[in-house]
Amino acid sequence: MALIVQKYGGSSVADAEKIKSVARSIAAVRDKGDQVVVVVSAMGDTTDELIELASQITDHPQMREFDALLSTGELISNTLLAMALHSIGYQAISLSGAQAGIRTDTAHRRARILNIAPKRVVEEMEKGNIVIVAGFQGVSEGEDITTLGRGGSDTTAVALAASLKAEVCQIYTDVGGVFTADPRLVPEACPLAEIGYEEMLELATYGARVVHPRAVELGELFNIPILVASSFVHSPGTLIHGGGVSMEVRNKVRGIAHDLDVAKITVVGVPDRPGIAVSIFKPLAKAGISIDTIVQNAGIDNITDLTFTVAKSELAEAMRLVEPIAESIGARECVGDASLGTVSIIGTGMQNTPGYASKMFEVLSEKNINIQLITTSEIRITCIIDEAQVEDAVRALHRAFELDAGE
Ligand code: ADP
Ligand code: ASP
Ligand code: MG
Repeated sequence: MALIVQKYGGSSVADAEKIKSVARSIAAVRDKGDQVVVVVSAMGDTTDELIELASQITDHPQMREFDALLSTGELISNTLLAMALHSIGYQAISLSGAQAGIRTDTAHRRARILNIAPKRVVEEMEKGNIVIVAGFQGVSEGEDITTLGRGGSDTTAVALAASLKAEVCQIYTDVGGVFTADPRLVPEACPLAEIGYEEMLELATYGARVVHPRAVELGELFNIPILVASSFVHSPGTLIHGGGVSMEVRNKVRGIAHDLDVAKITVVGVPDRPGIAVSIFKPLAKAGISIDTIVQNAGIDNITDLTFTVAKSELAEAMRLVEPIAESIGARECVGDASLGTVSIIGTGMQNTPGYASKMFEVLSEKNINIQLITTSEIRITCIIDEAQVEDAVRALHRAFELDAGE
């Protein structure tokens, strides 16, 4: 008898009929004799609706209340799913993140799981219950409800799988697995049969929201295989694992990721001397603003420009913090731009193989797309471009790197 953790995303539990259908899928696993623990997301667009509702009350909600509000979305779906299982004759119990022992740090809206004490989950399993845990939430040391960042139910599922030593974590969503690009944008995108943690982490971090990046990190850390598959149609899905992916059949570029949530701040005319970077980035870190790309050129005449990117939603707050600092250090000006996006090509096969960067730049130049910033890792090349050109860029790169042909 295997122990499986299954996670069902928002679109999989979007209405009563879908919840009943998910209950039947869970019952089928149980009928085969396997133990199953389930994690659910909020129904459909519930989380967006709760955010919108809060914004009708105030522009500056206290984060404690905000997280407690958001966590209610997952409590609706997990209780309804437990009821759906009861109504077809299965023993089940819903647990909130706190009841499931998910302890986090205190960083509201982007909390990290510190540890899981799954005592109650294990007790309920021993009583013969199918345990349905609310995703995306935990509880801090001070007993306040926290949430794990958008898409965080995937992380709940992999963390639970690790703490229960499950055989696999199955993530059921609205697409048939991890594709070579977002299938909503590129109809020719192909599903990948398997992918390593490292490549998946880069894809997820750079915009492929099919799996939450932190879930991939935890999968790698605890060596939990993650299967991503459709909850609507039968599909083999994609296995994310650490066992090494066959080299012969694969393209060196495995996938294209894109992200439309990118804003840029440039501090122009910064004096080139020690201590400047820390004076800018320390207050941002203190305010919990996460910085992605940072670019600073070698200075000419002891003057340089410093550019960095943040999520669009954090641009206003970052500008509010950086503008006075820029003035105090004698920088010329501080310019914000919220109309950017990124496009990335990703694949471990690109390591030590020249030519991928130049081919990427050539494809973008043929489309008349101006590259504003470039960043790389050993297995990724990312270009920051105008958001209006991101879709075009993704399709052109997908064709140019022959990802339409599948593997
Ligand atoms: P869920 O609610 O099930 O967690 P999400 O909306 O968070 O689902 O993630 C699934 C979506 O991720 C898909 O509908 C798809 O549009 C998007 N996506 C982006 N990049 C990829 C990719 N490379 N492969 C598959 N899906 C992707
Ligand atoms: N409901 C949360 C969100 O919409 C968490 C999740 O779906 O994973 O981001
Ligand atoms: Mg998701």
